[in-house]
Amino acid sequence: MSDLRELYQEMIIDHGRRPRNFCVIDDATHFKKGNNPLCGDKLMLYLEEKNGVIEKASFQGAGCAISTASASMMTQFLQGKTEVEAREMFTLFHDAIIEGKTENVAKLGKMAVLAGVSEFPARVKCATLAWHTLMGALDKTDIDVTTE
Ligand code: ZN
Repeated sequence: MSDLRELYQEMIIDHGRRPRNFCVIDDATHFKKGNNPLCGDKLMLYLEEKNGVIEKASFQGAGCAISTASASMMTQFLQGKTEVEAREMFTLFHDAIIEGKTENVAKLGKMAVLAGVSEFPARVKCATLAWHTLMGALDKTDIDVTTE
């Protein structure tokens, strides 16, 4: 348990308990549901995009502290970012969390606290759910995003 306790750093606990941008965007231009059956994390992601810039991002749903913290930090990051910047960050985040690549961790900003999850394969899908849901939202896919 001590490793896991280390993993739940202060920022993850804070975002998990008091998620930012936890609301519905009524005029959302993008919407996507994401599901991580392995842990039971479910989220709905809302984006309001104008001229290729994500002006607002928010989410709703229920999940573990890691999935909630990841979605909370991601929606904070996305405000004012272009779709291109969002996709670049997905790649950086994916490489750090799934591939365990450390060279670009600093570019993740405060989301770097989630990089420690790469050592816990069972929690990787919790951390990446929001980001996979984001890709589904940007691509406007017809089906809900699932990590399985
Ligand atoms: Zn989870």
